Amino acid sequence: MTLIGVLALQGDFIEHIHALQRIGADTREVRLPQQLQGLDGLILPGGESTTIGKLAVAYGLMEPIQEFGKHHAIWGTCAGAILLSKDAKRHQPLLELMDITVERNAFGRQVDSFEVDLDIPALGKVAPPGRPYHAVFIRAPLIDSVSAGVEVLGRLPNGKIVAAREGHFLATAFHPELTQDDRFHKLFVEMSKSD
Ligand code: GLN
Repeated sequence: MTLIGVLALQGDFIEHIHALQRIGADTREVRLPQQLQGLDGLILPGGESTTIGKLAVAYGLMEPIQEFGKHHAIWGTCAGAILLSKDAKRHQPLLELMDITVERNAFGRQVDSFEVDLDIPALGKVAPPGRPYHAVFIRAPLIDSVSAGVEVLGRLPNGKIVAAREGHFLATAFHPELTQDDRFHKLFVEMSKSD
């Protein structure tokens, strides 16, 4: 069994737990550094990246997660992707693990949230290819730029990057945990196993 932790300080961590349970992974809510022990992978949920970052600092989680990320898979969704990034173009606590630059709230306010079908060829690794991926964006960031070692997994019709992978790090600007389509969770469990 693969054991996946979900950072449970703020945001929609319970939806990630439910998606992982649907696909048969073992799960653990993570609030303290010692709860990282024995995990195969860690998910940073959506929510408010400044709040999650401040709480992670307060609970002494920043360095332990950075250490964990040296050898284990980490996936950030939306606010989690911001936390995982090297640069969010403003001052806030970041893990700086993944070599991407993000732009927060790139689509405007809460009312500018939207849903769109994306083509994500990498999901062909865990499911029959061809079916579009229905992505939910809520006050989402954009992935502004990626370094040479980062693989772009998905773009909006206008070409903007919204999903990327760098080794065992995965970032999505949207929220797979808010849909019943578990392909991204399956992909992440596979990434966690191979580390
Ligand atoms: N707007 C939030 C932030 O900048 C992210 C929103 C989300 O996770 N849905 O942190």
